[in-house]
Amino acid sequence: MHPSPSHEPTVATSEVATRVGLLLFDDFDLLDLGGPYEVFLTANRLAVRAGRRAPFAVSTHSLDRQPRSAYGGLVVTPGADVTTDHDLDVLVVPGAVDLTAPLGDRRLIDLIRQTGSNGCVVASVCTPDADWVDTGPVVTAGGLSKGLAMALHLVERWTDRDLAERTAEQLAYPWDSNGGTVAAAAPTAPPEVQADTKDWTWVLDRACGECGGDVSGLDLAELSELHRSTLASWLGVLDASSPDLAVRPAPDVWSTLEYSAHVSAVYRHAFERLTLICELDEPVFADVDPNVEASAERYDRWTPALATRELSAAGARLAELLSVLGPADLERPGLRSNGSHFTGLTLIRYSLHDPFHHLWDVGAI
Ligand SMILES: [Zn+2]
Repeated sequence: MHPSPSHEPTVATSEVATRVGLLLFDDFDLLDLGGPYEVFLTANRLAVRAGRRAPFAVSTHSLDRQPRSAYGGLVVTPGADVTTDHDLDVLVVPGAVDLTAPLGDRRLIDLIRQTGSNGCVVASVCTPDADWVDTGPVVTAGGLSKGLAMALHLVERWTDRDLAERTAEQLAYPWDSNGGTVAAAAPTAPPEVQADTKDWTWVLDRACGECGGDVSGLDLAELSELHRSTLASWLGVLDASSPDLAVRPAPDVWSTLEYSAHVSAVYRHAFERLTLICELDEPVFADVDPNVEASAERYDRWTPALATRELSAAGARLAELLSVLGPADLERPGLRSNGSHFTGLTLIRYSLHDPFHHLWDVGAI
């Protein structure tokens, strides 16, 4: 799935920032490192100043966390080891005046290749074509100061054009937001997922003919176990590092990554609705349209690392809530806006079929 730059404001609903790692190796070009570094930090500063969350977590990495000398001899000490701290969404690889040494370093090359195949976007300063070229998983910049242009493009890709333009202005860098080449965006027609407006409440009465899951008679202990094992399966799917994670099997069918993003939202909504049921008398739940959420939260841009963090966080929060519910909570009523009646217990059953069913959708059961 190729994320596309968008001009509409992005709804930053993810709980964690996009993780950007800058890779150090001997004789790297300092400007290729320092340029993007300044860009991401400046974008963070401007976002925070505007009352938003800092969109980027920036870190420096090297093999075995060893200090590395830039071209010319300046030594830079990284904060992380790229062989172990590789839970990144973007890895920025600087260029080098002489590429013989880095290209001959098998560990380094294997690591960059592996990082890319794990779904992390590899951004490198190397090719003198356009200011930058964005193919989706690989973004390249046209040499030296173009690393700044590429990093500004990454700011736009992960946040929005306005922040990227303000960052360029702050850096007094004449950025041409149209100076790069972006691969055609993948079709964004959303699939017909289990939209809330559709009635899936029959899963409360019988087994699902597709995934085979039967939540209808499960008690809280069994549901907690179902939640634990479904979440573990999802994290396993994301950890499998398949290059196909971001590929839609058909133009109108979500990729595994998009499904995983949706599942993290299902966990979030289940938590919110259960909390309402426990705290209010017969609350009416707000409508949720997964297809609208998918485009607002740009599921097509998610990386496996981001999906893993979101799923883990939302899944753990729901598990914790399940662990403290009492028998009275399970009988408390709630209403969906279409009039469907729930109790705490049926809401949990209903909510937990969905993530299990999507494991079936992505071929994991
Ligand atoms: Zn099902």
